[in-house]
Amino acid sequence: MVLAQLGGSISRALAQMSNATVIDEKVLNDCLNEISRALLQSDVQFKMVRDMQTNIKRIVNLEALAAGTNKRRIMQQAVFTELCNMLDPGKPSFTPKKGKPSVVMFVGLQGSGKTTTCTKYAYYHQRKGFKPALVCADTFRAGAFDQLKQNATKAKIPFYGSYMESDPVKIAVEGVERFKKENCDLIIVDTSGRHKQEAALFEEMRQVSEATKPDLVIFVMDSSIGQAAFDQAQAFKQSVSVGAVIITKMDGHAKGGGALSAVAATKSPVIFIGTGEHIDEFEVFDVKPFLLQKLS
Ligand code: GDP
Repeated sequence: MVLAQLGGSISRALAQMSNATVIDEKVLNDCLNEISRALLQSDVQFKMVRDMQTNIKRIVNLEALAAGTNKRRIMQQAVFTELCNMLDPGKPSFTPKKGKPSVVMFVGLQGSGKTTTCTKYAYYHQRKGFKPALVCADTFRAGAFDQLKQNATKAKIPFYGSYMESDPVKIAVEGVERFKKENCDLIIVDTSGRHKQEAALFEEMRQVSEATKPDLVIFVMDSSIGQAAFDQAQAFKQSVSVGAVIITKMDGHAKGGGALSAVAATKSPVIFIGTGEHIDEFEVFDVKPFLLQKLS
């Protein structure tokens, strides 16, 4: 994935700068331009890159750089801090507690990996001792219930859905009620996607959210959508109160910079990343160790 390459590009820009005998405005600007180019190539939104450049210039004092024994380190620290700020909205997302029923609703465009991610999320928590359950409130896509049923059965996770009922709100409410009665502590509601952002999708999402009162709404985003990430994430956030983001398909050729944009647009943290089609190809996303690894 490209965030890894991004780390490489940033490291190279920093190395070039620290090799310069004199660090002046030009050397600093060249380095920042190089880093900005790398970020833009990773599909980070233009405005975010520009803001980052301004912030780094503000925190990196040219005199300290010129005198500093380790210029590379000073700049590296500034870049790291800025990237952390971009990826960390400053407030942690809701985390389910064992033994206390929580409802988590998944939203995202069709094909983003939402249904797959619901099962991965359920499976991850099941292994941690939770009692998860899956509700298929996607009545729009033919085969959605079958897919969820198949995934859930494989992972031995209880599920609820209907082939007959076409009202997603009704299914969602029934499913949540049933699993609350069965003492499930993590009730996951999969909602419909669409091929693109549409008013009908957003209205449906809003209704499901209002009826089930989720403790957390997770926005699932395909990492390969590139520059469209910011607007897409923002459109979802405006309809339902997104509280966390999961970025899928990080195993592919996706550039990954969209993750930064999604965080900025939703002001919510990325909590997991999907790294494959398999149920256990799912990783907790922790900003600092992730960036340290990429930038070291
Ligand atoms: P939905 O329409 O959003 O519910 O999307 P699906 O869950 O049906 O996923 C769409 C496709 O993406 C399926 O072929 C999934 O196997 C695949 N997929 C989902 N997550 C990942 C991931 O993290 N990596 C890869 N390589 N494929 C994924």
